[in-house]
Amino acid sequence: MRRPILELPDELISQIAAGEVVERPASVVRELLDNALDAGARQINIRLVAGGVRLIAVEDDGLGILPHELPIAFKRHATSKIGNLSDLESVATMGFRGEALAAINAIADCAILSKANDQGTAYLLDGRTGELKPIARSQGTTVEVKELFYSTPARRKFLKSDATELAHCIESVRRHALARPDVGFSVWHDGKLIEQWRRCDPQHSAMAALKQRMADILGSDFIDQSVAVDWISAAPVGERATSSATAMRVWGRVGVPDLARARADQQYCYVNGRFVRDKVLTHAARQAYEDVLHGQRQPVYALYLEMNPTRVDVNVHPTKIEVRFRDSREVHQADRHAAEDALAVPRTQSLLVPTGPPTPESSGNANLPGNAAIVSGLNGKAAPSWSPTQSSMRFFSAPSPLGHRVSDLGALWGNLRTESTSPNAAMGSATDDRATAQNLASGESPQPDCEGPSGQVSPAAAAPNEHWPLGRALAQLHGIYILSENSQGMVIIDMHAAHERIVYERLKAQLKATQSSASPDTNARLSSQPLLIPATFAATATEIAVAESRADALHALGLEITPLTARTLAVRAVPTTLAQGDAVELARSVLSELQQHDASTLIEHAQNELLATMACHGAVRANRRLSLEEMNALLRQMESTERSDQCNHGRPTWRQITTGELDALFLRGR
Ligand code: ADP
Ligand code: MG
Repeated sequence: MRRPILELPDELISQIAAGEVVERPASVVRELLDNALDAGARQINIRLVAGGVRLIAVEDDGLGILPHELPIAFKRHATSKIGNLSDLESVATMGFRGEALAAINAIADCAILSKANDQGTAYLLDGRTGELKPIARSQGTTVEVKELFYSTPARRKFLKSDATELAHCIESVRRHALARPDVGFSVWHDGKLIEQWRRCDPQHSAMAALKQRMADILGSDFIDQSVAVDWISAAPVGERATSSATAMRVWGRVGVPDLARARADQQYCYVNGRFVRDKVLTHAARQAYEDVLHGQRQPVYALYLEMNPTRVDVNVHPTKIEVRFRDSREVHQADRHAAEDALAVPRTQSLLVPTGPPTPESSGNANLPGNAAIVSGLNGKAAPSWSPTQSSMRFFSAPSPLGHRVSDLGALWGNLRTESTSPNAAMGSATDDRATAQNLASGESPQPDCEGPSGQVSPAAAAPNEHWPLGRALAQLHGIYILSENSQGMVIIDMHAAHERIVYERLKAQLKATQSSASPDTNARLSSQPLLIPATFAATATEIAVAESRADALHALGLEITPLTARTLAVRAVPTTLAQGDAVELARSVLSELQQHDASTLIEHAQNELLATMACHGAVRANRRLSLEEMNALLRQMESTERSDQCNHGRPTWRQITTGELDALFLRGR
């Protein structure tokens, strides 16, 4: 049956549009908070009744709305934020579509009370009747939304329990609050104050303000177990990073792998102050954790990306929760490297009582994420006050370059064969102490000098030194753990797990170095050492086939495995770093892994997996007796190796137990 084509009445259009914007009370909260922040509010109070279904009132102390503009605010496509297409291309406000108030008014009982900053009286506009009348109120705006979905009962049925809706509303406030530590927030439910986050001290640096707000919202555990990120993309030569159109800054904090959770419910990503859900960003963050967090565990982080607003389209989703990047590869790299670099720095450094160089929290400027000044600064409209110069690496007084000064691991192996020297040899003289302290001050790593031909660790390596985060090794427990004493108390180190990571990072660095220096015709390979007597073993037909067909890949890994007879393989060369390990075991597991990755070229991920497997064979085994020097050498290597806080499977390699914790254990001082 044919039906006539009719234009929809205005109210119905608004109700349909509202379906896109308002899904539940939390969506209203989000829109009203956006508006309050756009109006320059310093304090925002949110009052909810029955999970926001009966009432949502958002009160701010922002600019306010002029009385004659109040009725326009409720109109569809009415906004003060953009005026033309070029404004749309560089949106620096949270809202810009001019549809939120109209949509909310179409599906709930709304009222706006507002006093503009230059007006004597406040006015109340009733959204239902359109009546405007004077009222008492200080500067700012309150939007009241009552009985959500009263006119669309079908949608009201989709709402969950009040408690669930309340939780969503609070999450919405948390998302905003995490981006704006310069604004105070309070949340009331059914007349009770349930959350309150004070605005930061304006004297505080941006990083300090953010840290405080994160502590309020994500808890002090998050602060204790996360590292600061402050990364800025390198500007093209001759261009200042701040003025470059493509410059990007990624900052915030990333939780250490220990803090990972079963659910991905504490991953906050912001683009120019706007909370977004974006596949590119979450994938990049996931990759940043790839080498330190395994399995299904979900990391915790809050990362703020700042970029030129013309390079990101925020107008692709009615609720603005999704964005589209002009160059998503560049964004992915920035996000990944920012987090990866911060996570790579060994956290043993944090065991030292901080002295000297400024921490990220005490330096920097007072810009905040979401601050329009940042955005317009990038845009060249305002003076670019945005000039973070530190990279995350500089925040740490760790020896540099990290991870590349690990001394010859052969020394550790060499020592395993000689009987351990007397424990007294572990005690260095005061002169050694001072020498090492000076090295540290001059940026040199306190290298245990293990590179001598004798493979002996110098006394300095074993000397007690307060600059050594992991302290001085005291003993080995059950052939598995190293017990060490540092300035905070005692450290327990999983010797195999730690050594495995050191070997792994070393193999990665070696392969990377050869890859970058290799010419197209000389293939990159790990340095290899021929075995005087080839190690032979009975092999399966598959193993022999893999050894033959993947000889190139084996060669690149520093291995040479050739068939000796129809049933035996001979290992003729192994990577130098692993020369002391069991060649047959190594060959077998590499062959079995190569068989699983049948690609002819090894992609980075598979390659790392292979190196990790190899490292496992190269690492010192449980039940090996280590001398104190060897233990100390291992600790020093950990301190200067990237990602050494986790083993290759993402488990921790060391734990600190402070004297305070020990005292509590023994009820001391009670
Ligand atoms: P948008 O935020 O996309 O502009 P809205 O429908 O959310 O659209 O709001 C319409 C207009 O009402 C805004 O552009 C702004 O000028 C005004 N407005 C809304 N909320 C506030 C507020 N809390 N304080 C001051 N002005 C407001
Ligand atoms: Mg809005």
